[in-house]
Amino acid sequence: MDLSIVIPLYNEEESLPELITWIKQVLNDKYTYEIIMVDDGSSDKSWNVISNLAKQNNEIKAIRFQRNYGKSAALFKGFEKAQGNVIITMDADLQDSPEEIPELYRLITKEDYDVISGWKKKRYDPFIKRFTSKFYNWTARRVTKIHLHDFNCGLKAYKKQVIKSIEVYGEMHRYIPVLAKRAGFKKIGEKVVQHQERKYGVTKFGLERFINGFLDLMSITFMTKFGRRPMHFFGVFGTLMFFIGGSVAIWLLSEKIYYSVKNIAIRDVTSQPLFYLALVAIIIGVQLFLAGFLGELITRNSTDRNKYLVREEI
Ligand code: UDP
Ligand code: MG
Repeated sequence: MDLSIVIPLYNEEESLPELITWIKQVLNDKYTYEIIMVDDGSSDKSWNVISNLAKQNNEIKAIRFQRNYGKSAALFKGFEKAQGNVIITMDADLQDSPEEIPELYRLITKEDYDVISGWKKKRYDPFIKRFTSKFYNWTARRVTKIHLHDFNCGLKAYKKQVIKSIEVYGEMHRYIPVLAKRAGFKKIGEKVVQHQERKYGVTKFGLERFINGFLDLMSITFMTKFGRRPMHFFGVFGTLMFFIGGSVAIWLLSEKIYYSVKNIAIRDVTSQPLFYLALVAIIIGVQLFLAGFLGELITRNSTDRNKYLVREEI
C-alpha cells in the first residue's frame, strides 16, 4: 500500500464528509491508500458520521477512544495501525489541504526524505497564536538544530519506519520531528503548504496551549540534551555541589582542629554561616545525584505504550 492518511479528530462532525470527499478526489486511482480516522473521544456525532462514511468507503479504517486522550495519543494509535509505505498526518478541520499529498508523497519516495513537515507560511490563525508560534519555532530550531519553520504543523509526511520507531507521548505531537531525529532519522525537510481558515467548529486547544507549548519546549530541550542520560545533567551538578560543600566543611573543621591544637582562640564551627552554606550544598548535591540516578533507572523502564483504551474499531 502506498499511503496511509492518519487523521486525529475531536468533535469535527461537520468537516468529516467534506474532508473524505476531498481526499478521495485527490488520491483516487493514482495511489493505493487507507484513511485511518482516530476519534479522540468526541462527544458530538463524529463517530456516527465516520461509521456511515466507512460503510460507503472501504479505504476508511477508524478507531474510537474511550475518552479524550489528546492529539498525541490519537496520532500514536493511528501510527500503530498504519500500513502504507508513506504516512501522511492531517487535521480533520479542513485547515490542511489534501491537495498537498501528492507532492509530499513524491518528496518522501523520490527524494528519500524521512520526514517532510508542512510549513503554513501564510497562516489563517489569530495573531497571538502566530506570534507565540514564531517564538517557539525559533527556540526549537536553535535547541534542536532542526531547521523547520513550523514544528507543529498538522500536515506532515513520514516514511513508514519513522512512525513505527517513535512514540508520540504526552503532548509531544508539537515536536514530532524532534522525536524522529532522536530516533535517528536525519533527513527532515519542509514544504510550504496551503492553510485555510477553520470552516466549521472551534479550535480544540484553549489558552493553556501557550503554557503547554512552552513547557513542552522546555522538556524537549532537556530531553534532547539529556533524556537518554539524565545522570550527565544531575550527576555533574550534584557531584560539583557535593564537593564544594564537602571541601568547605572539611576546611572549616581542619582549621578548627589546627587552631585548637595550637591553643589559639577561634569561633565555633557552628557559629560560622559558611558552615551552614556548606551543609546545604552537600544536601543539594546528594539530592541532585539521586535525581540523576532515579532518572537513569526510569529511562531504562519507561514506555507510554498500550495505555490507550480503544473503544471501537472498524
Ligand atoms: N484534536 C484531537 N484531540 C484533541 C484536540 C484536537 O484529535 O484533544 C484534533 C482536532 O480535531 C483537529 C486537530 O487535532 O483535527 C487539530 O486541532 P485544532 O484544529 O483544534 O488545532 P489548531 O488548528 O487550532 O491548532
Ligand atoms: Mg485547526
